[in-house]
Amino acid sequence: MTDVDFAAIRRQFPILDQSIHGHPLVYLDSAATSQKPQCVIDAESEFYRTINAGVHRGAHELAARSTMAFEEARAKVARLVGANSEEGEEEIVVTAGATAGLNLLATAFGNASVGRGGKPAQRFALKPGDEIVVSKAEHHSVLLPFQELAYRTGATLKWFDLAEDGRIRSDTADEVITERTKVVAITHVGNTTGAITDIAPIVRRAHEVGAVFILDACQSVPHLKVDFHAMDVDFAAWSAHKMYGPTGVGFLYGKRELLEALPPANFGGSMVELAWMDKPAEYMAPPARFEAGTQPVAQVVAAGVAADWMREIGMENIEAHEKTIAAELLKLGDIDGVRILGPRENVDRIGTVAFDVQGVHPHDVGQFIDSLGIAIRVGHHCAQPVHRHFGLYASNRASTGVYNSIEDAQALVEAVSKVRSFFKV
Ligand code: PMP
Repeated sequence: MTDVDFAAIRRQFPILDQSIHGHPLVYLDSAATSQKPQCVIDAESEFYRTINAGVHRGAHELAARSTMAFEEARAKVARLVGANSEEGEEEIVVTAGATAGLNLLATAFGNASVGRGGKPAQRFALKPGDEIVVSKAEHHSVLLPFQELAYRTGATLKWFDLAEDGRIRSDTADEVITERTKVVAITHVGNTTGAITDIAPIVRRAHEVGAVFILDACQSVPHLKVDFHAMDVDFAAWSAHKMYGPTGVGFLYGKRELLEALPPANFGGSMVELAWMDKPAEYMAPPARFEAGTQPVAQVVAAGVAADWMREIGMENIEAHEKTIAAELLKLGDIDGVRILGPRENVDRIGTVAFDVQGVHPHDVGQFIDSLGIAIRVGHHCAQPVHRHFGLYASNRASTGVYNSIEDAQALVEAVSKVRSFFKV
């Protein structure tokens, strides 16, 4: 146990202090989106009240202050994930979220494959015969951009299979990734199974064959201490709204030398050095090259506050706290007729626990649970292949955040234990 006062941390979330259907709200849907502490809510409105202005433009004082706040937020986010942020060495690109970051990469690789004037940018170019590797556990925002990239370039899409408990079969890296593999995109933590992927063998094999390794860090950055340098990943994408920050913003990590070699994906203002009518433009260095158009500055600033807030609590403390709640949630698997879709042991997993209640449709389960003031997610969680792996189309999913308590998990377990008798199955 840590000496962090998690009950006091919970009180920093105003939304949690309310009743739903006459019961105190129990929020167990942080894998969909996390709630926001008061300091993050305040940071956004404080920005609008005091320094709102376009960044990187204009000679006036407010523009200078907002630019500084924006760049400071980038540095705070970089510190959370072990990335560089010194001027000229930045490795964090602002995006509209994980989906946008992953699409940015797939589009940039597509642009590299076509090239300018028919000359592909070799480092990232794909052609027929090349391979792109994903896994069956991917969120659709990994699967679909890279599947479409394969269709566009003639490359072949391959994937890691899953073990019975839904873990990605990292032990098969040497067979799945071949000399023809150019891109590997894998989730760090399954958004349905909660399983932490053993990425080391996959990263090692990807680099052995010269492929680029992309990590979907959406479900790891909020819950685990991550260090992208130590993990040696080439790119990583995640969303601010799942790490106690605002919606509409996310981040893409890229090794500096790769960001410098990658062609842009989106074109417009604030990303170009020189634009001409009769010859191709010269683009700015990263991260500006990838940040076309006006950025969500207030939200980025607030996301920086969220990153600092998490570091202050300590990622190890957050992980340890959520692990105790995961242990409680895993008791769902002891209920007659309830099956957990993911590892049953509380090892190498987070507190995201998807489950099936035999004979009861997830929407019915969700509604019953909701009537008791407990919020969980039902559906396929934008991950249909992993549900097919378990022989299902949809499931129920409880997921933890830093504000949850053991009592929250106990309330859910008790509620789920009543579902089958309520529906008379
Ligand atoms: N990957 C994973 C593993 C996720 O859980 C999510 C969020 N549901 C995403 C990607 C996409 O994130 P967003 O919708 O915030 O772009």
